[in-house]
Amino acid sequence: MVLSAKTFATVIGSGPNGLTAAIELASAGVKVTVHEDNHLIGGSARTAELTLPGFHHDICSAVHPLAVSSPCFERYPLANYGLEWIHPDAPLAHPFDDGTAVILERSLDQTCVHLGPDGEAWRRLFEPLVEAWPRLRHDLLGPPIHIPAAPLAFARFGLNAIRPARALAESQFREARTRALFAGIAAHSALPLEGRPSAAFGLVLGTAAHAVGWPIPKNGAQRITNALAGHLRALGGDIRTRSRITTLPDGGVTLCDVTPRQFLPLAAERLPASYRKLLAAYRYGPGVFKLDWALSAPIPWSAADCRRAGTVHVGGTLDEIADWETRLEGKPFVLVAQPTLFDPSRAPQARHIAWAYCHVRNASAVDLTDAIESQVERFAPGFRSRILGRHVLTAPALEYHNMNLVGGDINGGAMDLRQLRVRSTRLRYRTPLRDVYLCSSSTPPGGAVHGMCGYHAAQAALRRLPRLR
Ligand SMILES: Cc1cc2nc3c(=O)[nH]c(=O)nc-3n(C[C@H](O)[C@H](O)[C@H](O)COP(=O)(O)OP(=O)(O)OC[C@H]3O[C@@H](n4cnc5c(N)ncnc54)[C@H](O)[C@@H]3O)c2cc1C
Repeated sequence: MVLSAKTFATVIGSGPNGLTAAIELASAGVKVTVHEDNHLIGGSARTAELTLPGFHHDICSAVHPLAVSSPCFERYPLANYGLEWIHPDAPLAHPFDDGTAVILERSLDQTCVHLGPDGEAWRRLFEPLVEAWPRLRHDLLGPPIHIPAAPLAFARFGLNAIRPARALAESQFREARTRALFAGIAAHSALPLEGRPSAAFGLVLGTAAHAVGWPIPKNGAQRITNALAGHLRALGGDIRTRSRITTLPDGGVTLCDVTPRQFLPLAAERLPASYRKLLAAYRYGPGVFKLDWALSAPIPWSAADCRRAGTVHVGGTLDEIADWETRLEGKPFVLVAQPTLFDPSRAPQARHIAWAYCHVRNASAVDLTDAIESQVERFAPGFRSRILGRHVLTAPALEYHNMNLVGGDINGGAMDLRQLRVRSTRLRYRTPLRDVYLCSSSTPPGGAVHGMCGYHAAQAALRRLPRLR
């Protein structure tokens, strides 16, 4: 069976999910055109000289455990289009005020040794998930309803994932350092650590660190985008930049790499009132305040081991991290990436870049440059003296740069349980309009660069397309 030669598709938005949806459709013989509002493709997977000439910064995504876990990316010949993964010596470091740090190693055994009295508890929590990862990732990145590929591990994951990160950390670990390590990973959820299911993020990203690492693309995140676009073009797909779509096109199938906030005006009166109400009630999570630095030398961490890690979680203890993620006031919990320690191509010789962000209230224009730099300075005295240039993105500036980042929310919407239910039932790709699908990170399985929202949306569309016998 082949698709009707008349079948054509419009994809609105060229983020990783839009490009993946386009690849899936083009692979099935559909004539695809991707329309991108921006002058550059890639949505939140782009790289640019934000500070000084020769310093190549990731504007948004930087570290990609879920891209290397993605069942669809692994089927694409992305290496042929220039994508090369670099694995830092260790995925993550978490420094403390006493000048030491806990290192999350690729090796589970080595990590357990570092964690001393908590080593066995860490192993009990993670080992079954790490062993099951080759199958479990299909469940975690799968559509909401599916036959589990790793039923036991998925059930074990679910029991702990549903818990608040604080409760899980305090019940499993005795040491303040281990609790802090888990809290920092779980804080990627952008949820209060007392909220459900913040533990899920600690488990997924912690497991991925051991199973596949937290790699960075050589030359930056733009390489993921360029590789997806190269593959798409080879399949006959067309990409148009500076092409903002304001109303849904007539005819063909349409996949929208947009969040509910933008879908509402796109579809406007064509939508039934109940669905319009659902979209209007959709909630966004905290925003992000982002900083990029051009540096004269690496960040001078007091704990020298931090230089072995691609990512450093800066914020101290579980209580401190939890306090920031709940109140978004005080001392920020900061995620730092230091790519040039492992990829010198990103800066002039002997120079460095670093990437950092923290959560802020949605749409807050607050400038946390000083607060973030003070936190880095706390664990790396002398850091400020190495700054050659900096680039600041407040939450509204992020939205200006990419409409999908509503109020600076980088996850396509709030990740709390109530909204996850909405995302996995009412935003399951199909919309009430025939041949119109949502494919952004607001749909399951959610945020991060993995393309699986686009993949599942395209499969849903392909199931309904006319075929020739
Ligand atoms: C600061 C930041 C840090 C991040 N860090 C990481 C990380 O380290 N690792 C990771 O895996 N993920 C990270 N993420 C998340 C990740 O980048 C996103 O989850 C992912 O890019 C979502 O992909 P998407 O295709 O759904 O949407 P996006 O990447 O947001 O792309 C949507 C695209 O659609 C376009 N568009 C929207 N409306 C229209 C329209 N009407 N007409 C035409 N074009 C339109 C937009 O311009 C945009 O280019 C980060 C995100 C941000 C912002």
